[in-house]
Amino acid sequence: MMTLNPLILASGNPGKLREFHQLLAPLGFDVRAQAEYAVREVEETGLTFVENALLKAREASRISGLPALADDSGLEVDALHGAPGIYSARFAGEPKSDARNNARLLECLAEVPEGRRTGRYWCVLVYLRHAEDPVPLIVQRSWEGVILGQPRGEGGFGYDPLFWLPDQRVSVAELPATEKNRLSHRGRALQALVEALGQAGGMR
Ligand code: IMP
Repeated sequence: MMTLNPLILASGNPGKLREFHQLLAPLGFDVRAQAEYAVREVEETGLTFVENALLKAREASRISGLPALADDSGLEVDALHGAPGIYSARFAGEPKSDARNNARLLECLAEVPEGRRTGRYWCVLVYLRHAEDPVPLIVQRSWEGVILGQPRGEGGFGYDPLFWLPDQRVSVAELPATEKNRLSHRGRALQALVEALGQAGGMR
């Protein structure tokens, strides 16, 4: 039987927990939710995805005593000069709501024609062996798309019903989960992280 390596996921987002579990379980990782260890959400005070991911991973590892993986991600829209960016989860204010965020995005882009609605998801992953790890593993990946004028599809989470993939001719919310995991910013960042973990295996 394969030994499972426990790993804490520094996120309270059930959509992300599901995606990381699907991607990491086959590789032998037992992905635990930070809620199991009473890790509270840290204040995301960084100005970059990488700073925020580090803050989250460090806190989860400190409280749980386990290696930690944190993801910080968001949507960058060109016509909005990069917004909502690091503020994607709380674009429409607190409490966080995907429905209100999507409504606000549509409102902000109401006057923007189809050809200028380009954007991309970003995902930064940080892996720490322990809370004081001086050599975090860091990877970042993006996923290009176009913001639709109205939602399509029921799958995924967050901005997925508004994120159109020109090559596939579907919104991300219309993609099967396995296909999203293969193509997405998070799925590809995770593949890269797993490769980096393998390469660093000797030293780590
Ligand atoms: P975080 O939890 O602070 O990283 O916030 C990420 C936010 O970016 C989410 O709450 C979503 O609004 C958005 N986001 C990131 N990745 C995705 C995705 O794969 N689909 C849809 N929205 C995403």
